[in-house]
Amino acid sequence: MTYIEIRIRPAEESRDALINKMSEMGSIGFVELDGEVSGYFEPDRTAEALCDELDRFRPVLKASGLDASFSLSHNVLPERDWNETWKKGFRPIDVGENLCIIPSWIQPETDRIPVIIDPGMVFGTGHHETTRTCLSLMERTARISSRKAFLDIGTGTGILAIGASRLGFEHVTAVDIDPLAVDAAERNAELNSCANITVLQGTIDDAGAGFDLIAANLLAEILIDIAPALSERLNPGGRAILSGMLVGQEQAVIDAMTSAGLSLQEQIIDDKWVSLMISR
Ligand code: SAH
Repeated sequence: MTYIEIRIRPAEESRDALINKMSEMGSIGFVELDGEVSGYFEPDRTAEALCDELDRFRPVLKASGLDASFSLSHNVLPERDWNETWKKGFRPIDVGENLCIIPSWIQPETDRIPVIIDPGMVFGTGHHETTRTCLSLMERTARISSRKAFLDIGTGTGILAIGASRLGFEHVTAVDIDPLAVDAAERNAELNSCANITVLQGTIDDAGAGFDLIAANLLAEILIDIAPALSERLNPGGRAILSGMLVGQEQAVIDAMTSAGLSLQEQIIDDKWVSLMISR
């Protein structure tokens, strides 16, 4: 088995759009290093066909007002090399004051609280700003809030649920609509020996109620949709950490949360992403 590696060097402003495009084209993983993005594909199409499709995406970028001048190259890798390349993109990362996210194949050597993650092909490695911001805000909130029940909506690899368990929450519920994420989150909860995490396939509607803290790292439209359901599931005085919206989308999310009876406590802007701390 061989894999195709497509390497692009996009302008910063076009990076996310190109990563999305490669996901749509069936990329099974990405590595980002020093401004270069490598997408990996199974060899069911030729490297040339994949490059052609990315070339045809340039006018779409241009039409969106984005820089379309990315460089493009490709390689064919034996499976062994692909695994190594993929893993090289992950390193331990310190987060907040006391947490450290550690890839499952690295021996933890840290005084910090370890959150061990096997990223598989699912979102949530801690390499994304929004995940790290959620974890830091959770760490801060855990010190001052009741820590009986935590809900993670859109758990991906389970990273926030594991963080919550590590930060002392007694009962942790994690939901995701993607069955691959549910598998990954269950596996990772086990890797961390977190027996107090329940992973469910579904949406917020499938989670119980009475949570002290809810984390949701999701697109703005979904956050807006779930505002009433989220409010219903928070204990009085409970808090929610919302992330995943782009700068400019936050006001609509704040409005939806306010209409659902919640109030904004804090807003953090990290690069182009916004995270909100909301309370009931
Ligand atoms: N919580 C992780 C992953 C966030 S990615 C982190 O912070 O890094 C968002 C995840 O939400 C994906 O795994 C996706 O499958 C899931 N998702 C998207 N819409 C959802 C919805 N309406 N309900 C539950 N999960 C959803």
